[in-house]
Amino acid sequence: MTHRDILEKIRLAFPQPVSDTIHDSYFVHSMMRALDQVDTLKTHLPFLGSIIHGDFEAAKYTTLPDTMSSVEEVTKELVSYIEGMTIFGHPRTQQNVIGPTTIPSLIGVLLASLYNPNLAWDEFSRLVALAEVEVTAMTSQLIGYDPEQASGVFTFGGTGTSLYGVKMGLEKACPETMQKGTSEDAVVFVSDTGHYCAANITGWLGIGMNNLITIPTTPENEIDLKLLEQELRKAVTDGKRIACIIVTLGTTDAFGLDNLKYIVELRDTLVEEFKLDYLPHIHADAVIGWAWSVFNDYDFEENPLDFRPRTLRALAGACRRIQHLHLADSVGIDFHKTGFTPYISSLVLVRDQTDLDLLRRSPEQMPYLYHFGQYRPGMYTLETSRAGTGPLAALANLRLFGVEGLRAILGHIVEMTQILREHLEGHEGTTILNRGNFGTVTLFRAYPVDVDTFEIKRQEFEDAEFRDSLIEHNAYNRDIFQYVNSEAMEGRGVFISTTDCYRHTVYGEPIVALKSYILSPFVDEEDVKTVVEKVLEAREAIGESATD
Ligand SMILES: *Cc1c(COP(=O)(O)O)cnc(C)c1O
Repeated sequence: MTHRDILEKIRLAFPQPVSDTIHDSYFVHSMMRALDQVDTLKTHLPFLGSIIHGDFEAAKYTTLPDTMSSVEEVTKELVSYIEGMTIFGHPRTQQNVIGPTTIPSLIGVLLASLYNPNLAWDEFSRLVALAEVEVTAMTSQLIGYDPEQASGVFTFGGTGTSLYGVKMGLEKACPETMQKGTSEDAVVFVSDTGHYCAANITGWLGIGMNNLITIPTTPENEIDLKLLEQELRKAVTDGKRIACIIVTLGTTDAFGLDNLKYIVELRDTLVEEFKLDYLPHIHADAVIGWAWSVFNDYDFEENPLDFRPRTLRALAGACRRIQHLHLADSVGIDFHKTGFTPYISSLVLVRDQTDLDLLRRSPEQMPYLYHFGQYRPGMYTLETSRAGTGPLAALANLRLFGVEGLRAILGHIVEMTQILREHLEGHEGTTILNRGNFGTVTLFRAYPVDVDTFEIKRQEFEDAEFRDSLIEHNAYNRDIFQYVNSEAMEGRGVFISTTDCYRHTVYGEPIVALKSYILSPFVDEEDVKTVVEKVLEAREAIGESATD
């Protein structure tokens, strides 16, 4: 074959640059075939086909093929790679903060991939860049920022959003670190249930993980305000400069909500009192919690969407903290967590767009770009190329759901969580660890038949005398987890997950917990009841095998 022959095949593998409806049909048909093949992997189980453990050792020796394959052959191969994937939308999976994705958001990703806009510059992305501005506006308005003053950019994940927050704060506290490097005096604050990306960020930014000050949390998983104040004062007195206070609204494992309003007031007081020559930056890591903003102006009395009283209480409880998001200097938002888009769709919002100027490079550093156009975020983003997929997926879902839809879907998963908790509380063998929590994650433990579950939670948490009991019951709950998930593998029950350290006891021992994370709109009451039934069944099975 000459290269011209091969080129013919290659051209067929691209969408056609000029109208060719027959080829369009081929394109759509190719996707249909992929979907058909995926469909054959669906069973009643919440994963595709069977779970295959990849041979990572052999994979290291994969080589590039010598010859071309057809679109059909490649499609078939690609489909084989999603075998075993969890179906996150399945009502029988309640494992993690990974959501199912909507059809419009998938179309957004497809369109943005098809024409490959680059958000660095509107010259390369046209109206897709406008979508970024529109999503920024909608979200700013949702959380209460003034859209005229606010700005935002999509970045490489929730981690990226916090990175931007800390970097802007670092420039404020230690001006010109962009040019001169990081001073040794910078410190960053976060709670001990905040996301570990804070450690990564301080490490990568050169602030140093040793300069990340981790503040303990209350039993509600909120940053301890007294300890925070104490440590902030100490830092200032010691001549440190506060690059950033990361305030978490919706912790990953337990939906803890830090008291942002109090922390902003505390920051302002300290600035006044110590006559600081900069304003310590407050970044709200709301990558999970942001979506609850849709309830800020919900009429909880009238309750037009007809949620149950317990649900209303949980929604109102979350809003009590979420409604203050606009007080933060910057906010991280993951549409790929509680916005039901594919990865990656993460937006960092800044209350005052001039904060982004702190990150701006001079045009001389980028001589071949940005000579004209109206929108040039590439002048201050960390990334050079940025995909249009995140903004189009986010825009798709914001338009699809509107306030109404987001309220309904979040309200529903909160309602299912509340029903789960009601059922867990209805049995003496189970106890909820994050009882008063407002999110959709429930952490709970099961105990053997002879244990008084009314007392044990507090005893094991507070009293070192109960260390052995705690450790024994940690193992017990791991067994329960194994049982429940192996049943789920057989199509009986629901996949849940577990955490090795829900939090530490007062005497420093990790508490293992069972975890249900509800994020699928398909979950219904019978699915949450099944969780409880299976845990109780596990309790009996394990009890029997222990006495055998
Ligand atoms: C998931 C998560 C992150 C990290 O976000 P990615 O999108 O996974 O990078 C940061 N903070 C919190 C609270 C999270 O739950």
